[in-house]
Amino acid sequence: MPLKTNDYTIFWVGFLLTGKMDKTSRFYQSSYETISQPKKGNAQFFYKKGQWYFSFSLSFEIESQKTGSKSIGVDRGLKYITVAGEKETGKYLAFNGKQLGHIRLRFSNLRRALQQTKNIKALKRLENKEQRILQYWNHVISKKIIQFAKECGASIIKLEDLSFIRSMKKHWKRSDRNIHSWAFFDLETKLTYKAQLAKLEVQKVNPYKTSQECSSCGNTQKKNRRGSLYTCSCGHKQNADVNASFVISTRPSIQTTAA
Ligand SMILES: [Zn+2]
Repeated sequence: MPLKTNDYTIFWVGFLLTGKMDKTSRFYQSSYETISQPKKGNAQFFYKKGQWYFSFSLSFEIESQKTGSKSIGVDRGLKYITVAGEKETGKYLAFNGKQLGHIRLRFSNLRRALQQTKNIKALKRLENKEQRILQYWNHVISKKIIQFAKECGASIIKLEDLSFIRSMKKHWKRSDRNIHSWAFFDLETKLTYKAQLAKLEVQKVNPYKTSQECSSCGNTQKKNRRGSLYTCSCGHKQNADVNASFVISTRPSIQTTAA
């Protein structure tokens, strides 16, 4: 039977079968050295749209990392703009997601139309399709954020705690809420496992008014944020998402870490 796979899968399957990592692979990272022998997890054989799929998981342990203190902050925006920033050097990495904006708007309109006609089946199909696209982008974005953290010499990636996200939901169209929440959570999941593989730590911070706080003087003023610009009376002036990422990077972790 002809079988289709990709290099990334082959890299991990090779590790599972031989117990050795292919160090010549472009997917290999030096931090993988401390990964334990992998174990095969649940496997699934399923049929979808005229094709058979085989999926399985593999699990392994990673030595717990000693962490330094340098952090980057990641701001996940409503228009799917994600900004990672390192306050000390002022460096940041921004995903403006322009093409993605069009895609999201198209899906948003389609979804609303289907919800009105109560076409649940078509709605589910649409959601699956959109999730696949978002998953792809979340892979790309999380990978680039990890690279950025490493370039900055940071060992901690700080994110806003999603359990507080309820307050953001009121800014979202009702029909878009599920997929937005899902996309935020998916990025967090991908970022967390990629961070573990790269020996970085993901920490959650309180998101309270991160977009209104000045990353330079700490003053919090709603009027300081006007559209995409943040302007403070202390003289600090910056792109609002970059400012928010700096604020996030300096907030204390609220994650209760297991000892
Ligand atoms: Zn200020």
